[in-house]
Parts: sequence; C-alpha cells; structure tokens
Amino acid sequence: MGRFDERATQPGRGPRDMVRWKLGRKRDPRPDDFKALDAVRPGVHAGGAAALASGDPVAVWIGHATWALRLGGKLVVTDPIWSSSISGVVPRLVEPGVSLADMPPIDVVLVTHDHRDHMDLPTLGKLPETATYIVPIGNAARLKKPNVVELDWWQTHTLGDLAITLVPARHWSMRAPWNRNDTLWGGYIIESPQGVAYHAGDTAWGEHFTEIGARFAIDWAMLPIGGYAPRWFMEPQHVDPSEAARGFAALGARYLLAMHWGTFRLTDEAVGEPPARLRAYWTERALDPSRLWLLDVGEPRALIR
Ligand SMILES: [Zn+2]
Repeated sequence: MGRFDERATQPGRGPRDMVRWKLGRKRDPRPDDFKALDAVRPGVHAGGAAALASGDPVAVWIGHATWALRLGGKLVVTDPIWSSSISGVVPRLVEPGVSLADMPPIDVVLVTHDHRDHMDLPTLGKLPETATYIVPIGNAARLKKPNVVELDWWQTHTLGDLAITLVPARHWSMRAPWNRNDTLWGGYIIESPQGVAYHAGDTAWGEHFTEIGARFAIDWAMLPIGGYAPRWFMEPQHVDPSEAARGFAALGARYLLAMHWGTFRLTDEAVGEPPARLRAYWTERALDPSRLWLLDVGEPRALIR
C-alpha cells in the first residue's frame, strides 16, 4: 500500500493495462493526418537566456514541463529536464530552449512529482546547491540537495517576495513498482508582486481546477496538453487539449501557457496533434487568441497582467 493511495487517481493503471495498451496500439487505426502531424516539432527561438538575465518578469518554455520564470526578482525553474533522453530510453525531440550552460543563476526549483520526465535526477544533479528546492511530501531525500522543502497540498513556503503553494493534481507517483504512491504529487501556485502563476504538473481532468481557481486569482496557467492517447489508458492521468482548455476556464486564469508536448514521445498521439487540437478548440469557440500562448522553446514572453 502506498502512503498516498487514497489521493491517487482512479482507476489506477497497472502492468496488465500496459500490456493491453502496447499490444492494442497496433490495431488502432491512425488518423489520415497522423504522418504530417507527427513531423511537427515546437519552434526554437533565441533570446531566452538574455530575457531571463534581464530581471524583468518573463516566462521561457525550456521544453516538456520545464519552465524558467523570472518573478519576484527570482529565477524559478519547474520540473527541470535538460537531458537528451528520459533515463536513456526516450529520446528528446527538440533541444532545450535555453541550454543549461546559458541559464542565469537559478534561485528556486519546483518538482511536481517523481515520474522520470518530471524528476530527472541527472539534470537535478547539475543544478546549484545554493538553490531552494521544493517538492511534494516524500521526495526530499531523492534530490540530495542541502536545501529542500517538502510541502503537502495547500501548504505554502515563502521565499522573499514569492509565496509558493503545492496544490492538488489528479495523478499518482512511482519511481519503481514497489514505491507506487509512496510520495505525493501536485502542481504549484507561485504568487509574486507581478502576478500569480500556476504550474499544473501532470494531471487529469478534475474538480481541483475549480478549487484552485477559487483560492487564487491566476494570471498565467501552465497546463499540459499532450500525453493523452489512448484515452482509455490516459484519461485518469493526463488531460487532453480540450480538457486543458476546460481546466483553464475552470481556473479562471488569464493566459494558458501550453506545455508537455513536442519534447518527448510518451504516448500514441502524433507529436503535433496537441497544439493543433488546442488551436482548433480555441477557433471553434471564438476564444480570444491573445489568451493562448503556444510558445516556441526558448521564446521569452513578458509576464504582464
Ligand atoms: Zn506523471
């Protein structure tokens, strides 16, 4: 039994489901546009490092769930993975938006959960000892850093002008089969004088979007849009693009910053399908295009409310 089983997403997916997925995928017909969409990669943009060094509030997507945010004067990095693969198994499809060597000094590192695409120990080993690391309960020892803070859901840690709160996500944890749900997972709210950012981590659709939106006036919501096919397997753990858009609405956030697509091939959808579906959702409902940030990696976007 995992310590946090009661908070874990239902239904959980086990080894038998994995087999059903991997064997079944050969029979699933692919959409006609699969090949074209699968060749899509995020754009690559220069200028991220200089923008992060300038001190002005800015967001830069490094790739996957990794963001670099300059807020409250501090450089905050989320779910850092600069590696060329996940654990040597899943290759990276696009270079990090800013190379690790070019990153200005990092002050705060937020890790949402222990899955290997979010808690990449080779990358974490290269990050500075001087930074403050924040993790959900049970994850501190894994980081081997002098300054690690563990949080429960709705707990807050204050760092200068920043207040960082761990918030619920509909997900689960596992590094190895024997430690399933032994450690907590979540998302983060980052409150700063310039505005409020939310990083969802990995999450399925759930009531937590409404609960988080009721407690915080979110300006910038970093939401996962990829990793959703096949739906029967992924629905309890990852939102699809339409659920990300509905989550954005439930949060009442001002801007949706798309992530968790285009960097690693984790699931069965075409690499470029998530942004295409999210754009289509936006267009069909005539939503304000200025509210949807589908950024290139490395592209600096000023954080102005
Ligand atoms: Zn995960």
